[in-house]
Amino acid sequence: MSNYDVIIIGGGPGGLSAAFWCAELGLKAIILEREAVTGGQLLRTFGDIKNYLGVASARGSELRDIFLRQVETKDVVLRTGVEIETAYLVERKVVLAGGEEIRGESVIIATGVRRRKLNVPGEDAFRGKGILESGVRDQDQVAGKRVVIVGGGDAALENALILGAKAEKVFVVHRRDEFTARKEFIEQAEAMDNIEFVLSSNFAAIVGNEHVDGVDVRDNTTGATLHIPVDAVLVRIGVEPNTELFRGQIGTDKAGYICIEANCATDLIGIFAIGDVANPLSQTINSAAGQGATSAKIIAYNFIK
Ligand code: NDP
Repeated sequence: MSNYDVIIIGGGPGGLSAAFWCAELGLKAIILEREAVTGGQLLRTFGDIKNYLGVASARGSELRDIFLRQVETKDVVLRTGVEIETAYLVERKVVLAGGEEIRGESVIIATGVRRRKLNVPGEDAFRGKGILESGVRDQDQVAGKRVVIVGGGDAALENALILGAKAEKVFVVHRRDEFTARKEFIEQAEAMDNIEFVLSSNFAAIVGNEHVDGVDVRDNTTGATLHIPVDAVLVRIGVEPNTELFRGQIGTDKAGYICIEANCATDLIGIFAIGDVANPLSQTINSAAGQGATSAKIIAYNFIK
Protein backbone atom coordinates (compact mmCIF):
# COMPACT_ATOMS: atom_id res chain seq x y z
CA MET A 1 0.00 0.00 0.00
CA SER A 2 1.35 3.45 -0.91
CA ASN A 3 0.47 6.55 1.11
CA TYR A 4 0.00 10.15 0.05
CA ASP A 5 -1.21 13.32 1.69
CA VAL A 6 -3.73 13.73 -1.10
CA ILE A 7 -5.19 11.38 -3.69
CA ILE A 8 -6.66 13.34 -6.58
CA ILE A 9 -9.10 11.31 -8.66
CA GLY A 10 -9.33 12.77 -12.16
CA GLY A 11 -6.83 14.73 -14.23
CA GLY A 12 -8.92 17.43 -15.87
CA PRO A 13 -8.41 21.15 -15.17
CA GLY A 14 -9.68 20.78 -11.59
CA GLY A 15 -7.44 17.82 -10.79
CA LEU A 16 -4.39 19.40 -12.42
CA SER A 17 -4.95 22.65 -10.55
CA ALA A 18 -5.40 20.79 -7.26
CA ALA A 19 -2.17 18.85 -7.88
CA PHE A 20 -0.27 22.03 -8.67
CA TRP A 21 -1.51 23.72 -5.53
CA CYS A 22 -0.89 20.67 -3.35
CA ALA A 23 2.73 20.69 -4.49
CA GLU A 24 2.99 24.46 -3.91
CA LEU A 25 1.80 23.92 -0.35
CA GLY A 26 4.12 20.99 0.36
CA LEU A 27 1.54 18.20 0.16
CA LYS A 28 2.52 14.90 -1.43
CA ALA A 29 -0.14 14.31 -4.07
CA ILE A 30 -0.96 11.70 -6.66
CA ILE A 31 -3.32 12.14 -9.61
CA LEU A 32 -5.14 9.01 -10.75
CA GLU A 33 -6.54 9.49 -14.27
CA ARG A 34 -8.56 6.78 -15.98
CA GLU A 35 -7.81 7.91 -19.52
CA ALA A 36 -4.45 7.44 -21.20
CA VAL A 37 -3.77 11.19 -20.98
CA THR A 38 -4.77 13.98 -18.64
CA GLY A 39 -7.03 16.85 -19.72
CA GLY A 40 -10.59 15.60 -19.21
CA GLN A 41 -13.14 17.61 -21.17
CA LEU A 42 -10.36 19.83 -22.56
CA LEU A 43 -9.43 17.01 -24.90
CA ARG A 44 -12.96 17.01 -26.30
CA THR A 45 -13.07 20.78 -26.77
CA PHE A 46 -12.18 21.58 -30.36
CA GLY A 47 -13.17 25.24 -30.55
CA ASP A 48 -11.30 28.33 -29.32
CA ILE A 49 -11.10 28.86 -25.58
CA LYS A 50 -11.17 32.60 -25.14
CA ASN A 51 -12.72 32.91 -21.69
CA TYR A 52 -9.97 31.45 -19.50
CA LEU A 53 -8.42 34.59 -18.13
CA GLY A 54 -4.75 35.01 -18.99
CA VAL A 55 -4.45 32.41 -21.74
CA ALA A 56 -6.39 32.22 -25.02
CA SER A 57 -6.00 28.95 -26.86
CA ALA A 58 -7.11 27.58 -30.17
CA ARG A 59 -8.45 24.34 -28.70
CA GLY A 60 -8.71 22.48 -25.40
CA SER A 61 -5.67 20.30 -25.94
CA GLU A 62 -3.48 23.41 -26.31
CA LEU A 63 -4.63 24.69 -22.91
CA ARG A 64 -4.19 21.21 -21.44
CA ASP A 65 -0.57 21.19 -22.64
CA ILE A 66 0.06 24.52 -20.94
CA PHE A 67 -1.48 23.24 -17.68
CA LEU A 68 0.46 20.02 -17.86
CA ARG A 69 3.82 21.68 -18.53
CA GLN A 70 3.33 23.72 -15.38
CA VAL A 71 2.20 20.77 -13.25
CA GLU A 72 5.18 18.73 -14.46
CA THR A 73 7.56 21.29 -12.96
CA LYS A 74 6.21 20.25 -9.56
CA ASP A 75 6.71 17.22 -7.37
CA VAL A 76 3.44 15.49 -8.27
CA VAL A 77 2.89 11.82 -9.09
CA LEU A 78 0.82 11.59 -12.26
CA ARG A 79 -0.63 8.21 -13.18
CA THR A 80 -2.73 7.83 -16.31
CA GLY A 81 -4.61 4.85 -17.72
CA VAL A 82 -5.46 3.85 -14.15
CA GLU A 83 -8.76 2.12 -13.47
CA ILE A 84 -9.98 2.45 -9.89
CA GLU A 85 -11.89 -0.70 -9.03
CA THR A 86 -13.21 0.44 -5.64
CA ALA A 87 -13.04 3.69 -3.71
CA TYR A 88 -13.42 3.30 0.05
CA LEU A 89 -14.08 6.91 0.92
CA VAL A 90 -14.50 6.55 4.69
CA GLU A 91 -11.09 4.86 4.78
CA ARG A 92 -9.70 7.29 2.18
CA LYS A 93 -8.37 4.40 0.19
CA VAL A 94 -8.65 3.29 -3.41
CA VAL A 95 -8.03 -0.14 -4.86
CA LEU A 96 -6.92 -0.24 -8.47
CA ALA A 97 -7.79 -2.91 -11.00
CA GLY A 98 -5.07 -5.46 -10.32
CA GLY A 99 -5.30 -5.00 -6.56
CA GLU A 100 -2.86 -2.16 -5.81
CA GLU A 101 -4.01 -0.08 -2.81
CA ILE A 102 -3.38 3.63 -2.39
CA ARG A 103 -4.23 5.54 0.76
CA GLY A 104 -4.51 9.30 1.26
CA GLU A 105 -4.90 11.56 4.28
CA SER A 106 -7.38 13.36 2.04
CA VAL A 107 -9.07 12.64 -1.26
CA ILE A 108 -10.05 15.22 -3.88
CA ILE A 109 -12.67 13.97 -6.32
CA ALA A 110 -12.31 15.67 -9.70
CA THR A 111 -13.90 13.11 -11.99
CA GLY A 112 -15.84 15.59 -14.11
CA VAL A 113 -18.81 14.86 -16.32
CA ARG A 114 -19.48 12.94 -19.50
CA ARG A 115 -21.88 13.60 -22.36
CA ARG A 116 -25.31 12.12 -21.74
CA LYS A 117 -26.30 9.37 -24.15
CA LEU A 118 -29.65 8.95 -25.87
CA ASN A 119 -29.72 5.19 -25.32
CA VAL A 120 -31.49 4.46 -28.58
CA PRO A 121 -30.77 1.69 -31.12
CA GLY A 122 -27.90 2.61 -33.43
CA GLU A 123 -26.19 5.03 -31.04
CA ASP A 124 -23.23 2.74 -30.36
CA ALA A 125 -23.18 0.93 -33.71
CA PHE A 126 -22.84 4.13 -35.78
CA ARG A 127 -20.22 5.85 -33.61
CA GLY A 128 -17.66 7.13 -36.10
CA LYS A 129 -19.96 6.10 -38.96
CA GLY A 130 -22.06 9.23 -39.15
CA ILE A 131 -22.42 10.05 -35.47
CA LEU A 132 -20.32 13.18 -34.98
CA GLU A 133 -18.17 13.88 -31.93
CA SER A 134 -17.94 17.62 -32.37
CA GLY A 135 -19.65 20.22 -34.52
CA VAL A 136 -16.53 22.38 -34.69
CA ARG A 137 -14.14 19.55 -35.52
CA ASP A 138 -16.41 17.65 -37.89
CA GLN A 139 -18.01 20.53 -39.81
CA ASP A 140 -16.19 19.75 -43.08
CA GLN A 141 -17.58 16.19 -42.97
CA VAL A 142 -21.12 17.54 -43.36
CA ALA A 143 -20.49 20.02 -46.19
CA GLY A 144 -23.47 19.75 -48.56
CA LYS A 145 -25.06 16.99 -46.46
CA ARG A 146 -28.06 16.57 -44.17
CA VAL A 147 -27.54 16.50 -40.40
CA VAL A 148 -29.76 16.04 -37.39
CA ILE A 149 -28.89 17.47 -33.98
CA VAL A 150 -30.66 16.25 -30.84
CA GLY A 151 -31.17 18.58 -27.88
CA GLY A 152 -32.61 21.95 -27.00
CA GLY A 153 -29.88 23.69 -24.98
CA ASP A 154 -27.03 26.02 -25.93
CA ALA A 155 -24.88 23.17 -27.23
CA ALA A 156 -27.55 21.91 -29.64
CA LEU A 157 -28.40 25.35 -31.01
CA GLU A 158 -24.81 26.59 -31.21
CA ASN A 159 -23.87 23.45 -33.14
CA ALA A 160 -26.86 23.95 -35.43
CA LEU A 161 -25.39 27.34 -36.35
CA ILE A 162 -21.89 25.93 -36.85
CA LEU A 163 -23.04 22.98 -38.96
CA GLY A 164 -25.71 25.05 -40.72
CA ALA A 165 -22.93 27.15 -42.25
CA LYS A 166 -21.70 24.10 -44.19
CA ALA A 167 -24.51 21.54 -44.35
CA GLU A 168 -27.29 21.46 -46.91
CA LYS A 169 -29.87 20.99 -44.15
CA VAL A 170 -29.84 20.81 -40.36
CA PHE A 171 -32.73 19.40 -38.31
CA VAL A 172 -32.85 20.15 -34.59
CA VAL A 173 -34.94 17.55 -32.78
CA HIS A 174 -36.03 18.48 -29.26
CA ARG A 175 -38.32 16.59 -26.90
CA ARG A 176 -40.27 19.65 -25.72
CA ASP A 177 -41.94 22.52 -27.56
CA GLU A 178 -39.50 25.15 -26.32
CA PHE A 179 -35.74 25.40 -26.17
CA THR A 180 -33.63 26.18 -23.12
CA ALA A 181 -30.87 27.62 -25.32
CA ARG A 182 -30.05 31.30 -25.14
CA LYS A 183 -32.28 33.61 -27.14
CA GLU A 184 -29.66 34.81 -29.62
CA PHE A 185 -28.79 31.25 -30.68
CA ILE A 186 -32.48 30.47 -31.25
CA GLU A 187 -33.04 33.68 -33.19
CA GLN A 188 -29.98 33.13 -35.38
CA ALA A 189 -31.08 29.56 -36.09
CA GLU A 190 -34.62 30.69 -36.93
CA ALA A 191 -33.15 33.15 -39.43
CA MET A 192 -31.30 30.43 -41.34
CA ASP A 193 -33.27 28.88 -44.20
CA ASN A 194 -31.57 25.50 -43.93
CA ILE A 195 -32.29 24.91 -40.20
CA GLU A 196 -35.57 23.20 -39.32
CA PHE A 197 -36.87 22.56 -35.80
CA VAL A 198 -38.64 19.27 -35.05
CA LEU A 199 -40.18 19.92 -31.63
CA SER A 200 -42.05 17.79 -29.09
CA SER A 201 -40.34 14.73 -30.56
CA ASN A 202 -38.22 11.98 -29.09
CA PHE A 203 -35.48 10.15 -30.91
CA ALA A 204 -36.47 6.51 -31.44
CA ALA A 205 -33.55 5.13 -33.48
CA ILE A 206 -30.53 5.92 -35.62
CA VAL A 207 -30.65 3.76 -38.73
CA GLY A 208 -28.46 2.77 -41.66
CA ASN A 209 -26.34 -0.04 -43.02
CA GLU A 210 -22.60 0.62 -42.97
CA HIS A 211 -23.22 4.30 -42.20
CA VAL A 212 -26.03 6.43 -40.77
CA ASP A 213 -28.66 7.07 -43.41
CA GLY A 214 -31.53 8.33 -41.30
CA VAL A 215 -33.21 8.70 -37.94
CA ASP A 216 -36.64 7.83 -36.62
CA VAL A 217 -38.31 10.34 -34.33
CA ARG A 218 -41.60 9.99 -32.53
CA ASP A 219 -44.02 12.90 -32.20
CA ASN A 220 -44.88 13.12 -28.49
CA THR A 221 -48.32 14.53 -29.16
CA THR A 222 -49.60 12.23 -31.91
CA GLY A 223 -47.35 9.19 -31.33
CA ALA A 224 -46.57 9.11 -35.07
CA THR A 225 -43.07 8.12 -36.17
CA LEU A 226 -41.28 10.30 -38.68
CA HIS A 227 -38.28 9.02 -40.65
CA ILE A 228 -35.78 11.75 -41.50
CA PRO A 229 -33.10 10.78 -44.06
CA VAL A 230 -29.76 12.25 -42.89
CA ASP A 231 -26.05 11.59 -43.32
CA ALA A 232 -24.94 12.59 -39.84
CA VAL A 233 -26.16 12.88 -36.25
CA LEU A 234 -24.89 15.03 -33.40
CA VAL A 235 -26.17 14.34 -29.88
CA ARG A 236 -26.07 17.32 -27.52
CA ILE A 237 -28.38 16.51 -24.63
CA GLY A 238 -26.26 17.74 -21.76
CA VAL A 239 -23.86 16.02 -19.43
CA GLU A 240 -23.96 13.80 -16.35
CA PRO A 241 -21.51 13.48 -13.46
CA ASN A 242 -18.97 10.66 -13.18
CA THR A 243 -19.90 9.56 -9.68
CA GLU A 244 -20.56 5.82 -10.02
CA LEU A 245 -17.46 4.97 -7.95
CA PHE A 246 -18.77 6.93 -4.99
CA ARG A 247 -22.47 6.10 -5.15
CA GLY A 248 -24.05 5.53 -1.75
CA GLN A 249 -20.95 6.77 0.07
CA ILE A 250 -21.25 10.52 -0.30
CA GLY A 251 -23.98 13.15 -0.48
CA THR A 252 -25.14 14.01 -3.98
CA ASP A 253 -28.02 15.98 -5.42
CA LYS A 254 -30.85 14.36 -7.40
CA ALA A 255 -28.83 14.50 -10.61
CA GLY A 256 -25.84 12.79 -8.98
CA TYR A 257 -23.60 15.86 -8.57
CA ILE A 258 -21.55 15.74 -5.36
CA CYS A 259 -22.74 18.27 -2.77
CA ILE A 260 -19.98 20.47 -1.39
CA GLU A 261 -19.51 23.41 0.96
CA ALA A 262 -17.90 26.65 -0.20
CA ASN A 263 -14.55 25.17 0.90
CA CYS A 264 -15.11 22.16 -1.42
CA ALA A 265 -15.62 19.78 1.53
CA THR A 266 -18.16 16.99 1.08
CA ASP A 267 -20.21 15.45 3.87
CA LEU A 268 -17.35 13.01 4.59
CA ILE A 269 -14.36 14.17 6.59
CA GLY A 270 -11.26 14.40 4.44
CA ILE A 271 -13.10 14.05 1.15
CA PHE A 272 -13.31 17.05 -1.15
CA ALA A 273 -14.90 17.42 -4.57
CA ILE A 274 -14.10 20.02 -7.21
CA GLY A 275 -14.88 21.02 -10.78
CA ASP A 276 -17.77 19.87 -12.94
CA VAL A 277 -18.59 16.80 -10.82
CA ALA A 278 -19.47 19.08 -7.92
CA ASN A 279 -20.42 22.30 -9.64
CA PRO A 280 -23.37 21.97 -12.01
CA LEU A 281 -23.96 25.72 -11.89
CA SER A 282 -20.58 26.74 -13.28
CA GLN A 283 -19.04 23.98 -15.36
CA THR A 284 -16.12 26.10 -16.48
CA ILE A 285 -12.37 25.69 -16.58
CA ASN A 286 -12.10 28.80 -14.46
CA SER A 287 -14.28 27.39 -11.68
CA ALA A 288 -12.59 23.99 -11.74
CA ALA A 289 -9.13 25.53 -11.51
CA GLY A 290 -10.27 27.82 -8.69
CA GLN A 291 -11.77 24.96 -6.72
CA GLY A 292 -8.55 22.98 -7.20
CA ALA A 293 -6.69 25.76 -5.40
CA THR A 294 -9.40 26.07 -2.72
CA SER A 295 -9.39 22.38 -1.86
CA ALA A 296 -5.58 22.20 -1.64
CA LYS A 297 -5.44 25.26 0.62
CA ILE A 298 -8.14 23.94 2.92
CA ILE A 299 -6.36 20.60 3.16
CA ALA A 300 -2.96 22.19 3.77
CA TYR A 301 -4.05 24.72 6.36
CA ASN A 302 -7.14 23.36 8.06
CA PHE A 303 -7.24 19.65 7.75
CA ILE A 304 -3.90 17.90 7.85
CA LYS A 305 -2.04 20.42 9.99
P1 NDP B 1 -28.25 21.49 -21.27
O1 NDP B 1 -28.30 20.69 -20.03
O2 NDP B 1 -28.27 22.96 -21.20
O3 NDP B 1 -29.47 21.06 -22.23
C1 NDP B 1 -29.71 19.72 -22.45
C2 NDP B 1 -30.80 19.62 -23.48
O4 NDP B 1 -30.95 18.25 -23.84
C3 NDP B 1 -32.15 20.09 -23.01
O5 NDP B 1 -32.83 20.69 -24.08
C4 NDP B 1 -32.83 18.79 -22.58
O6 NDP B 1 -34.23 18.82 -22.72
C5 NDP B 1 -32.29 17.82 -23.59
N1 NDP B 1 -32.24 16.46 -23.06
C6 NDP B 1 -31.75 16.02 -21.89
N2 NDP B 1 -31.85 14.67 -21.79
C7 NDP B 1 -32.43 14.26 -22.93
C8 NDP B 1 -32.79 13.00 -23.43
N3 NDP B 1 -32.59 11.87 -22.74
N4 NDP B 1 -33.37 12.93 -24.65
C9 NDP B 1 -33.58 14.06 -25.37
N5 NDP B 1 -33.26 15.29 -24.95
C10 NDP B 1 -32.68 15.40 -23.75
O7 NDP B 1 -26.96 20.93 -22.05
P2 NDP B 1 -26.02 21.57 -23.15
O8 NDP B 1 -25.11 20.47 -23.54
O9 NDP B 1 -26.79 22.27 -24.19
O10 NDP B 1 -25.19 22.67 -22.37
C11 NDP B 1 -24.44 22.31 -21.20
C12 NDP B 1 -23.87 23.58 -20.58
O11 NDP B 1 -22.90 24.16 -21.44
C13 NDP B 1 -24.94 24.66 -20.34
O12 NDP B 1 -24.64 25.34 -19.17
C14 NDP B 1 -24.76 25.57 -21.52
O13 NDP B 1 -25.20 26.91 -21.27
C15 NDP B 1 -23.25 25.50 -21.74
N6 NDP B 1 -22.91 25.79 -23.13
C16 NDP B 1 -22.58 27.06 -23.44
C17 NDP B 1 -22.26 27.39 -24.74
C18 NDP B 1 -21.85 28.76 -25.04
O14 NDP B 1 -21.91 29.59 -24.13
N7 NDP B 1 -21.42 29.06 -26.23
C19 NDP B 1 -22.30 26.41 -25.83
C20 NDP B 1 -22.67 25.11 -25.38
C21 NDP B 1 -22.99 24.82 -24.08
P3 NDP B 1 -35.19 19.42 -21.57
O15 NDP B 1 -35.09 20.90 -21.68
O16 NDP B 1 -36.52 18.86 -21.94
O17 NDP B 1 -34.66 18.86 -20.27
